[in-house]
Amino acid sequence: MGKGCSCASYKDLELLRDDITTRIKQTKKLRPSLQRIDGAEGKRDALYKCESCGQLWQDSIAWGWDTEDDARYLFRVPTVSVGEWIRLPFVRPHELLAFAAAVERVTEGMTEKDEPCQTIGCTRRAVTHSVFCLRHHIESLQKIRSVQLLSGRWFPPYDQSGFAPP
Ligand SMILES: [Zn+2]
Ligand SMILES: [Zn+2]
Repeated sequence: MGKGCSCASYKDLELLRDDITTRIKQTKKLRPSLQRIDGAEGKRDALYKCESCGQLWQDSIAWGWDTEDDARYLFRVPTVSVGEWIRLPFVRPHELLAFAAAVERVTEGMTEKDEPCQTIGCTRRAVTHSVFCLRHHIESLQKIRSVQLLSGRWFPPYDQSGFAPP
């Protein structure tokens, strides 16, 4: 930790509504101590660096978040080159949270049927109220945006395998 910086006092965000709401509030205080390094303005995501300790932070907008503040928030990310980051920013915790909540909602009470999934080449069984297996059912809901689409670079502590149905 660099002298006089507070990076280490901010923990990794857990996928909890309150954690993200709290971070939205803290972000106004944290941002002035960081330097924006992605060279862009007004993008959906921004990349910041703490000149004191070298820690990188991504700034993203939690669209539709129920907050009185500007819904931007900063979260700590691993070291990455600016070029690589511009090509693919990190996954956003609020989207992971929305995805997990949507999957929980659509899979409630769902079971497998004795029919195969209608996706060509898929050998899994279809689930109730769908012609698809769980994975393809969720993909079909992502296409119509009723389940959050996830895009971005994965990083610890978040694990992609926890976000793909078996
Ligand atoms: Zn720092
Ligand atoms: Zn399938």
